[in-house]
Amino acid sequence: MLSDKLKSTGLADAADIQAAWPAEERLKKGPVAVVECFQEIPCNPCETSCPQKAIVVGQDINALPRVDHSKCNGCTICVSRCPGLAIFVIDEKYSEAESAVTMPYEFLPLPQKGDTVEALDRQGQTCCQAKVIRVVNTKAQDKTPLVTLAIPKGREKVVRFFKLVP
Ligand code: SF4
Ligand code: SF4
Repeated sequence: MLSDKLKSTGLADAADIQAAWPAEERLKKGPVAVVECFQEIPCNPCETSCPQKAIVVGQDINALPRVDHSKCNGCTICVSRCPGLAIFVIDEKYSEAESAVTMPYEFLPLPQKGDTVEALDRQGQTCCQAKVIRVVNTKAQDKTPLVTLAIPKGREKVVRFFKLVP
């Protein structure tokens, strides 16, 4: 159930975000999609693109997507298919000190693997440094490249975007 704040302002609060996240046990197993889609809009590429059938919107195309995280293998296909840029993939098994987060990035120039960038929170404020560990930009992604960052452990629910360091 969406919070009153989300209904009246469109901004998700901590409870909305928590409800969208996989259980801790699933996060510990490796890459998994997080779908932070909170607006009832006619949209379902997340459902139609998922080879594991882990996301369901259903007959009512305005319904919010429901995610079965136990079916998701973290393949990242849905991340570039979502027009709302509402999906990212978290891998808490990336290393002991860092987690990996894969997100869509529709700006130029693209970062390069090995770059250090500033990770941003939901308010657009810098929250930590991050390292670019992968950039994928294939024709199938239709101009929505995917960038994977290594971020410090504990920042998984905070980091939502990044900016290049000049
Ligand atoms: S990451 Fe892959 S398996 Fe998981 S929901 Fe997205 S498309 Fe499906
Ligand atoms: S594709 Fe993205 S915006 Fe559309 S319903 Fe799925 S998660 Fe929401």
